[in-house]
Amino acid sequence: MVGLGPGAREYLAPRALAALQAAEVIVGYKSYLNFIQDLLADKQVVSSGMKKEVDRARAAVEIAATGKTVAVVSSGDPGIYGMAGIVLELAGESIPVEVIPGITAANAAAAVLGAPLMHDFVVISLSDLLTPWETIIKRLEAAGSGDFVAVLYNPRSQGREAHIETARQVLLRYKHPDTPVGIVRNACRGEQSSIITTLGQMAKEDVDMFTTVIIGNSQTRIIHGRILTPRGYRL
Ligand code: SAH
Repeated sequence: MVGLGPGAREYLAPRALAALQAAEVIVGYKSYLNFIQDLLADKQVVSSGMKKEVDRARAAVEIAATGKTVAVVSSGDPGIYGMAGIVLELAGESIPVEVIPGITAANAAAAVLGAPLMHDFVVISLSDLLTPWETIIKRLEAAGSGDFVAVLYNPRSQGREAHIETARQVLLRYKHPDTPVGIVRNACRGEQSSIITTLGQMAKEDVDMFTTVIIGNSQTRIIHGRILTPRGYRL
């Protein structure tokens, strides 16, 4: 299980690179394989579309069972909304699985914005493909009432345009409209862009499936164009 990090090669861990080089077979979602195109020569490649995670995991386990070394790639970290869970579920005891971590979207987006995650934070995916929407709302409520910094993955995609607006409304029940919000698109890869706004002002049009949204806690400020959640040091 290999985490590719956010995309640009310099954010791929050396351990991950070594595993990709050593693998006989590489399994992954098509657009993630584009990040590692140059490493695919002379390898068997098994790729499939976005919602085919189970097929990909099954294929990987079946090939590994024949004795081959298989690298299953995920963007970011394989254990954060990635392929590690499903592969471990399917692999059983007979196939050894190594999980190689990667820089997840939360880290990458936070670094672009400044230092928004200096205090307790939660990560919530707004995708209701595998999670009931009521559960997502409950977790947003908990993030709000707990005054956590909130990192939102999968904030918008086809079929769920309204989710980010609903999430904003839920958080506004607990967080001030002036709470800083950072929206980072394609963090740490080509075409990176970012917007710093507030919970009251943020526009859902700025959010798509390539963005990660970070919403501050009650102490979070915008200073010199960066988002900062103070750790609490007395200066
Ligand atoms: N395993 C991945 C997350 C997969 S879920 C990881 O650890 O990063 C897919 C969601 O992650 C996207 O909808 C987006 O919200 C976020 N994401 C992944 N890469 C990103 C990047 N480079 N910039 C901004 N958001 C990203």
